[in-house]
Amino acid sequence: MLCTVIAKQKADDAIQAIKEAAELGADIIELRIDFLSDKGEVKRIISSSPLPVIATNREGNQSLLTDAIKAGAKYVDMDMNEIDKMVIEVARKVGCKVILSYHNIHEMPSIGKLTEIYNKLKASKADLIKIVPTSNSKIDNATILSMYDGMQNNLIAFAMGEIGKPTRLKAVEKGARWMYCATDRKVAPGQYSLEEARKVIKRRYFIIGDPIGHSVSPQMHNSNFSSLGLNSTYEAIKVAKEDLKKFVADLRNSNYSGGNVTIPHKIEIRKYVDEIDPLAKEIGSINTVKNFAGKLVGYNTDGYGALLSLEEAIGKVDGKEIAILGAGGAARAIAFTFEKHGAKVTIVNRDAKKAKEITNNIAEYSKLAEVMRRIDILINCTPLGMSPKIDESPVPKEYFKGTNKNMVVFDIVYNPLMTKLLKEAKEAGFKVITGEKMLAYQASGSFEIWTGMKADAKTMLEGARTKLNEKEGNSTIALIGFMGTGKTTIGSILAQRLNKKLIDIDKEIENEVGKEIDRIFEEDGESHFRLLEKKAVMKHFNGNSNAVVSCGGGTVLDMESSLKIKECSRVVLLRAKPETIVERLKDNLSRPLLHISSEEKIERIKKILKHRKAIYEMSANYVVDTDGLTPGQVADKIMEKLGN
Ligand code: NAP
Repeated sequence: MLCTVIAKQKADDAIQAIKEAAELGADIIELRIDFLSDKGEVKRIISSSPLPVIATNREGNQSLLTDAIKAGAKYVDMDMNEIDKMVIEVARKVGCKVILSYHNIHEMPSIGKLTEIYNKLKASKADLIKIVPTSNSKIDNATILSMYDGMQNNLIAFAMGEIGKPTRLKAVEKGARWMYCATDRKVAPGQYSLEEARKVIKRRYFIIGDPIGHSVSPQMHNSNFSSLGLNSTYEAIKVAKEDLKKFVADLRNSNYSGGNVTIPHKIEIRKYVDEIDPLAKEIGSINTVKNFAGKLVGYNTDGYGALLSLEEAIGKVDGKEIAILGAGGAARAIAFTFEKHGAKVTIVNRDAKKAKEITNNIAEYSKLAEVMRRIDILINCTPLGMSPKIDESPVPKEYFKGTNKNMVVFDIVYNPLMTKLLKEAKEAGFKVITGEKMLAYQASGSFEIWTGMKADAKTMLEGARTKLNEKEGNSTIALIGFMGTGKTTIGSILAQRLNKKLIDIDKEIENEVGKEIDRIFEEDGESHFRLLEKKAVMKHFNGNSNAVVSCGGGTVLDMESSLKIKECSRVVLLRAKPETIVERLKDNLSRPLLHISSEEKIERIKKILKHRKAIYEMSANYVVDTDGLTPGQVADKIMEKLGN
């Protein structure tokens, strides 16, 4: 976790700096009372802080710390030479934790001396022991870090000075509760700024649920961390119902900065956190927890995820009429969030009593066709259509007749992505939105709460899509890459092995038009061919082909086609060196881009590949190099990558 040191003279400046630190993702702040010119302002500063406060006073009168405790400080910090037993007593009474600390601005004592100091502070009944000498060498760094060996997790030990800077980071990795960092003013040599620290610090996050193996959240969050260059990790933890209380209690003293909560804990966890955000309170469930240095606050970002998905497709929901099918957890989150953003919500649910708990605008399923005539947006929040019952839909197909043609249909179910409801709505001409966006955007909402940083939502969405596609055992596999990389041959081996249909986009075009590709190029031109190619992509990548699709060498050069292919399949890029390609194509003259003398071919291919490299890589989920391999060996490699 990150602790930002606030060392200001004026109270208003301190309040402003705390607010900024909270926005930038600090977890806790250390208020340096000794820097304040008006000590009488301590109470005002602490009581207005959105973050937990460590009150520290490094000069004389420690009774100021009792004011801080009364104002709600979560920790007080006293130097080992200025320990005031009264302050410890007052702190104990109200549950404020005591940090006893040792500083040495000149040197690094021996490990024996440091251990003596630790034991002395422990005997003085410290909750946390802070030991901060100065490092003058790498050996000093090793000395201070060796303090963590076999130590309980009540130690914060690192070294001051520029040489000691790496120990600040290492200390957190070894179990220190937090790293001290600066806002605009560095109060100790070697200190990281908050901006710097939030990039390098190793933060840990979790998702708890039972079962949890299916979760796509680790994929989404970890790809976001690597895209933003953050040294953070996210893991799925199976927590049974009876273990939730203990898990949450342990969380307070852990180095997890936050996490997500899923079925079956979203409602139950409300009992165990310290505070609930007002929207989550209204919704009645929590999907995000932030650990503010031991204080756990619950939030709900499900509605936010749905809101962003819709706003991206149709703009603001203010003034829009929305019908929500279902009145469970997701329906509540969406209804309350959307109403806050000015939408008018009607709930359609089997159980009218549950619907009434959300709003008075309710309707029965028997009236759904009527409701659909007046609404702008229809959202399915029931599990109908979810795998394995993919043949179910909450809306009879005929209800789409005579409905507002501009209605948007949003299904929050994401397995499969294209539910029966969405397929039928799309066939009837309605704009549809799939559920994986909500999944990605609720995750980006959680990340923003934990860190104060903007998430790379696009990467999260790609992470979700990749994982969801992987999970759909019947999903389509697309092979892309330059001619001569073996897409068709390898495609047919894969199709046979995986019992899937083989679709060769070039062949499909030839059958459709009744001409060979070469002739289409010669007689109608390349741009006409590209149009035919795009049409074929839109037809065959529809979310339920269950095929291996071999694409043309230039298919993904069209951005819309590239996105469609990635949305509906797991995309494998086959690569080969120009020399390999020329060798493989030496007897093949029916390739449109290569009607040139053989000497020129390698140079020409190099040039084309240079131009296409980034596009190919961006379009793919997996890359397989084919040089020196037989088609069978390439197929083995692909199956290994896809986990088949
Ligand atoms: P939930 O709390 O169990 O609520 C389910 C609701 O669906 C209930 O109101 C229930 O009606 C209704 N329902 C269930 N079976 C039905 C049927 N056969 N006919 C009509 N209504 C039926 O579930 P939830 O947590 O809200 O989740 C609902 C769905 O949304 C799940 O498929 C889940 O995977 C998905 N989801 C997606 C995201 C995302 O990020 N995309 C997020 C959360 C949830 P009664 O009240 O009458 O029993």
